[in-house]
Amino acid sequence: MSKIIAAAAIRGAHACVQRAETTLAQAIGRHSRDAAIGFPGTAYALPTILALVGKRVEKLGDLEEAVQVARAWLPSEPTERLWLPYLGAALDAGAATLVAQEAVEALKPLRGEPLAGGFWLGPTPDSILREQGIKLVDGRMPGFAACVGALPDDETAERLARDLQERNILVFMGGACGGETMAAQLNRRGVEMTWETFLVPYGPNTSSIVHALGFACRAAFTFGGLRPGGLKETREILLYNQRRVFAFVLALGELDDEKFATAAGAINFGFPVISDTDIPEILPSGICTYEHVVSNVAHRDMPSRAVEVRGVKIRTVEIPIPVRHGPAFEGERVRREDVAVEFGGKYTRCFEYLTSRPMDQVQDGLIRVAGPEIADVPEGARLPLGIFVEVAGRKLQPEFESILERHIHSFLSEPMGVMHLGQRDTVWLRISKKARDAGFRIEHLGTVLLHKLRNDFPAIVDKVQVTLFTNAEDVERLYPAAAAAYQQRDERMGALTDESVDIFYSCALCQSYAPNHVCIITPERLGLCGAYNWLDGKAAYEINPLGGNLPVRKGDAIDPALGQWKGINDFIRNASNGVFERFSAYSMINDPMTSCGCFECIACVLPGTGGIMIVDREYAGQTPVGMTFSSLAEMTGGGQQTPGFIGIGTLYVLSRKFISGDGGLARLVWTTSRVKQRLGDKLRQRCEEIGKPGLYEKIADETVCTELEPLIEHLAAVEHPALEMGEMI
Ligand code: SF4
Ligand code: ZN
Repeated sequence: MSKIIAAAAIRGAHACVQRAETTLAQAIGRHSRDAAIGFPGTAYALPTILALVGKRVEKLGDLEEAVQVARAWLPSEPTERLWLPYLGAALDAGAATLVAQEAVEALKPLRGEPLAGGFWLGPTPDSILREQGIKLVDGRMPGFAACVGALPDDETAERLARDLQERNILVFMGGACGGETMAAQLNRRGVEMTWETFLVPYGPNTSSIVHALGFACRAAFTFGGLRPGGLKETREILLYNQRRVFAFVLALGELDDEKFATAAGAINFGFPVISDTDIPEILPSGICTYEHVVSNVAHRDMPSRAVEVRGVKIRTVEIPIPVRHGPAFEGERVRREDVAVEFGGKYTRCFEYLTSRPMDQVQDGLIRVAGPEIADVPEGARLPLGIFVEVAGRKLQPEFESILERHIHSFLSEPMGVMHLGQRDTVWLRISKKARDAGFRIEHLGTVLLHKLRNDFPAIVDKVQVTLFTNAEDVERLYPAAAAAYQQRDERMGALTDESVDIFYSCALCQSYAPNHVCIITPERLGLCGAYNWLDGKAAYEINPLGGNLPVRKGDAIDPALGQWKGINDFIRNASNGVFERFSAYSMINDPMTSCGCFECIACVLPGTGGIMIVDREYAGQTPVGMTFSSLAEMTGGGQQTPGFIGIGTLYVLSRKFISGDGGLARLVWTTSRVKQRLGDKLRQRCEEIGKPGLYEKIADETVCTELEPLIEHLAAVEHPALEMGEMI
């Protein structure tokens, strides 16, 4: 490492550790060593310290020990004469800095300084990490940028943020430069900063950027199943990040000692540093994949240079529309006062209908607007809309229509300034004034669909034509055909059972994070992330036979009740790198499927009730098993097979095969009100189908109780059937 950088990093590390020690001593003086400490919504205590020191810090006394470890890592203060021919000393200094910074951040609430507020979001809860996990594995979010400092002006800040968003890179922001922060600059430009828009402002101090490293450490814990511990474990966590987490640091503006020290900390993770100022470069020498520090990069070139240096693979599609687009713009809202034109919601009929046609009946690339265009109506107008997509393809099967149609939601959410909610005939679509002023027209909705369908489904879609009906007469004329198609598709899906097919589909997308995990997706059990069902697997295989979804022949039944087949087990053995021998599709007790980390819900056995509980990842409270979702997730995730615990997609609860090998739905004694609401009438209907019409009301949620004893009393009072079924384990 360059002598100058190493010296600055070591100086910065000394100052950081010193600051942590002073702040900590004050806190211990005012509170006590037993005072609790931690970040909200995580099961990983102070995650960076947990990863680097191997210590779970829950009290001030624990933190004191962790900071002592960091102090011991500090190399001696550099003098002019000191020559550091190797990275080691600076890297140790970097690691010590991260420990100190996380300590300082964690101590803030005790000092009356909130971690979040205004546009600052503070540290990320585990629930969001899991929700984003699926985007990390399927390439929608190929990496993240930790931006430290500020840009020369607001406009440049927005351009950099947009350039990163357009590449789907998650942007963390922290620290200041000359009293200015990148987040404040974006805020002044009216840029929406949330997890949904991939723009996450942590805090104004340099220390806040440690939350980005904490995010990376938790990726290794939650998705990689790595455990904290000693030196060996720490090394594995760092290697995991170097190999699987495509992150980098953008150093914006002049660097001080603390920023050099933080950068050295990030290099430990294999995250290179790209700087806009003239600092000494550090070329390849072992930790990062390519260069470690690249300097003097123009703001315009930063995203592409960073992507190249970190080796991030970006998939983008060229779409000839006048606004930026990509998954990072999916979550943006268009507020009422910003609307140029809107469709649907509760105001007008708005639906989308995709159907397949013979090859000669589709004119590829034809996009029409039948009815008024955006320029023909007053600002804020509400129009009806029928989005009618006709596709043709030699390998296109009618059952893929519903899959392609479901993608319309994400496709039309991607242009900046377009908001799309709902699906089928519950669509609500808004186009913003900004988009319109940039030249976006209703016709461009068709342009987006055309390019995305061609690009994402090249193997099954050969031709696309789109008609956008914006006059009431045509919309009403077309609607009955769409409604009939929705119903027919639902019936077809309903008739598809595990018995009616010979082939299930595997999904190995999450192996990029949980190397031994594989999902087996059956018609009656969707992937645990909730995002992939059997038909998706089938379509994905048609699109890319060498991709993450493979057909798996069931073969001879070994145990039909548990849901074990020879073909599936043979496949699992291979796909899990020999780690797992057997999977049961219908049991959470005997050879349950593994869970990566992005499950929508966790189902777990509740001893003493004869039943199970299901908790969704957004639920932050206590559960009757005495653990929060986050602590449960630690036991369940990381590609492990844990009898009694499984990660599931929420809709699996409605399946006839929902833990049918263990007694089925009648075992469900407690869930969160969010799950109950989401399943609603369909869950009631399932209760009736299994001959237990009053069961829905008997299932408790957090409004009834959050502890085991009161739950057992409740179950006895309502005569819940699980009590009679006997213990599961
Ligand atoms: Fe990951 Fe399973 Fe979802 Fe595939 S189906 S993305 S492996 S959780
Ligand atoms: Zn996963």
